[in-house]
Amino acid sequence: MTIRVEVTADRRFGTNSYLVEDDTTHDAVVIDANLEPDLVIEVARRARAKVKAIVLTHTDVDHIAGIHDLVAAFGPVPIAVHEAERHVVVEGKPLRREFGPIATKVDYVVALPVGEPFRAGSLEFEVIHTPGHSPGGVSLKIDGFVFTGDALFASSIGRSDFQNSDGAALIEGIKARLLTLPEDTIVYSGHGPATTIGRERKANPFLT
Ligand SMILES: [Zn+2]
Repeated sequence: MTIRVEVTADRRFGTNSYLVEDDTTHDAVVIDANLEPDLVIEVARRARAKVKAIVLTHTDVDHIAGIHDLVAAFGPVPIAVHEAERHVVVEGKPLRREFGPIATKVDYVVALPVGEPFRAGSLEFEVIHTPGHSPGGVSLKIDGFVFTGDALFASSIGRSDFQNSDGAALIEGIKARLLTLPEDTIVYSGHGPATTIGRERKANPFLT
């Protein structure tokens, strides 16, 4: 199986939305729903991707804002989210005490159980719990790629100054479950450029 990854970013927050596609079957998932969902929808159309699921690394507004547009484009596909943040997308409750409700209520929400494979068509992801930026933060690994949401960035890590953040858990999860991956694993973050596990292990100032 060859996995193909395409990245799109919105201009407001620079939040990445990824198309992850099995090049043989064209089965695909979209990871995160940024503020310009048309970009990833266009990428998926051009690739003739069969989008089987939308996967959320967490539920801050810039990662879920485009979710209704994605559902409209791809049909009622499952929306996978960690149990700890399910209420945000099912009930439209705010993730953060610091911000108001987002009013994003969607159907077809499924759980992303940590430690179990998440399957979408021919794709199979390993679900890694990387909380701390938010309680239900997950990273998703497939092949030599890991999608880290707002846990790990190139040369940085996610914010942990919100009421429901946990800076110690964030660093502990990254060190125990991400930096232990093979060093040539390509890291696709919620914001900014791609990096590798090896590079972050050596040079990330927040982790050394
Ligand atoms: Zn973000």
